[in-house]
Amino acid sequence: MPSIILGGFEISLIRESVYWWDGGAFFGVVPKTLWSRKIESDELNRIPAGFNCYLIRTGEHTILVETGGGDKPDARYRQRARMAPQTPPMPEVIARHGYDPEAVDIVINSHLHWDHCGGNTILTGNGARAAFPRARYFASRGEWEHAHERLARDAVSYIDTNYDPLVDSGQMTLVDGDCQVAPGVWMRRAPGHNRDMMVITAASGGKVFCFLADLVPTAAHVQPTWVTAFDLFPVETIETKNTWLAEAAEGEWVCGFAHDTEMAFAHIVVNPKTRFSAVPL
Ligand SMILES: [Zn+2]
Repeated sequence: MPSIILGGFEISLIRESVYWWDGGAFFGVVPKTLWSRKIESDELNRIPAGFNCYLIRTGEHTILVETGGGDKPDARYRQRARMAPQTPPMPEVIARHGYDPEAVDIVINSHLHWDHCGGNTILTGNGARAAFPRARYFASRGEWEHAHERLARDAVSYIDTNYDPLVDSGQMTLVDGDCQVAPGVWMRRAPGHNRDMMVITAASGGKVFCFLADLVPTAAHVQPTWVTAFDLFPVETIETKNTWLAEAAEGEWVCGFAHDTEMAFAHIVVNPKTRFSAVPL
């Protein structure tokens, strides 16, 4: 999996695994005649989606952004999503990528949908335990409160064993809005997908990496109006995308997407026809 050096930071894509989900759901009101030019679907109209996590090594800290889908989905769900029968624990995934999982001292979740924080914990006969016992975990308080509202629209996206044991033990810090979790590394609120989703920026030596989370789940979604059907506030997603992608283009940021299976790192460039496009590094 690819890595880049950005100022004094090393940033690596860690793809936990891949699932396949309905292409129509991923592209909302965009017709298949258009999105099928960007991503090929299988016979059940599903497209591949990576569980993309990024490891940021700052010299002082080893920061894991997202933890994948984890071990909670049952056999039926795995079959529906064309997932492997089992997902290895996140520390094992990191070791397979050539990094020391013991070094992870900070874990950040952009939001608490199961496909972003599933590897936070590992199920045991005695309940769920932290996958990274010595790490401090960070998530948004508003998102955690929303998860517990159990609204009909999105309750299915939340599995409490991915975060509640960490909140109960004090290992997870719930942040109120924008927060610097380590020197140069920020979680910043980017509403649209849901109210309190965060994007993660890491700046060093005048260069910026930005994990766009589900604001831009794949490179095809850089076109601001291409919004997933999952988004609770699609109109706000478009506004938030316009703001963030303009900044990314202007600052020549390196960006990462939550679910793209092809493009690990990309620059955002202004495109007169679609407003923005993604150029792989
Ligand atoms: Zn997602």
